Amino acid sequence: MIYLDNAATTRICDEALEEMMPFLKEEYASPLGQYSLGFRANSALNTARGRVAALIGADVSEIIFTSCATESNNLFLRGLIRNLLNAGTDSAHKSISIVTQTTEHASVLNTCEDIAREYDRVRLIKVPVDRNGFVNEVAYREALKERPDVVSIMHVNNETGAVNDIKKLCGLAHEAGAIFHTDAVQSVPHMRVNVREIGVDALSVSGHKLHGPKGSGFLYLRKGVIIKPVLTGGGQENGLRSGTPDVVACVGLGKACEELFRHGSEDRTAARAASVFAAGLKEVLPAAVINRPGDSTGDSCNYLSEIVSVSIPGGDALSIIPDLDMAGVCCSSGAACSAGRKGVSHVLAAMGIGEGLAKGTLRFSFSRYNTEGEAAEAAVIVGRVVKKNLENHGILFK
Ligand code: PLP
Repeated sequence: MIYLDNAATTRICDEALEEMMPFLKEEYASPLGQYSLGFRANSALNTARGRVAALIGADVSEIIFTSCATESNNLFLRGLIRNLLNAGTDSAHKSISIVTQTTEHASVLNTCEDIAREYDRVRLIKVPVDRNGFVNEVAYREALKERPDVVSIMHVNNETGAVNDIKKLCGLAHEAGAIFHTDAVQSVPHMRVNVREIGVDALSVSGHKLHGPKGSGFLYLRKGVIIKPVLTGGGQENGLRSGTPDVVACVGLGKACEELFRHGSEDRTAARAASVFAAGLKEVLPAAVINRPGDSTGDSCNYLSEIVSVSIPGGDALSIIPDLDMAGVCCSSGAACSAGRKGVSHVLAAMGIGEGLAKGTLRFSFSRYNTEGEAAEAAVIVGRVVKKNLENHGILFK
């Protein structure tokens, strides 16, 4: 099986799994326990927090462990808005506005929409993207004239790999007086992200996208930014996320972050495998469209090459994926996190890609565990399977 769905989730790295094992077996105490077993669990939690903070250049006090990036996004957006609505200042009386973009992941987009539905005083502005999938700068500057309270723009898009210039977008938002959050789920696993350098106030990360365990994630919240908790209770995680911490998940996340840091952003294994795959695919399926930001427009764009989005004219991704599975290649249609949903990807639609092409779009995504050899093999398999699939549906494809 050649696994090319790493933007959906990754295999856990051996180093993380190994460190987690004792905490699943004999070291099972709560980190709040006032005995040596509890102290050891607490110390493991602190080590994990230190490793996570080191990866993104944050202070340990700025890391809130969560169960996934969906939770991190919810905690930040709901927590901030609730705080602004309840603040005992002038802002308690005025309306609150949120700026985001149309191609965000559902965990940001649906959360913003839900907040705006819930509170009459909250207004949502969704900025469109340009034809390459980047936030439309003219529309963004226009939205900032409204002096929003919060801006949430993703770092790297999970379907196309488009890399937004977060430092610039954050700087503009700050000039307009807004608090800036970024969903960095797809960037942190592949590029160096330092919160002080890019200047963000909050950032969400998922553990299972960077070879950590499922059920792990964190929110970076810059010192001084105040949010209200979504989960209230025993006051763990600085009062922002109550509940006995999942030490096993946090230990695995911490170790996976340390491994990522050790490999460094110079580790181009995944990017090399992805480019071998894309080149191979162009040879076997010259009519396939690779949706690389800038490819069809000729514009120079910053994108993550580890995500290869391919549109098969006339094809139907939902019928090709099972055939690829049978042939030993795992990939997804559009965004796997919203798989099961009918209709074409909101990201491709927002970029102006027609429904026909969007329907036939497959996403292949790579990790440091993919080799160039299997990438070349996968391209040949995809070529063969796609041609056969289309032939079976009476479509001739070059
Ligand atoms: N944000 C982005 C950009 C994603 O790609 C995903 C999942 O694919 C998420 C958020 C949600 O991550 P999680 O599964 O950790 O909730």
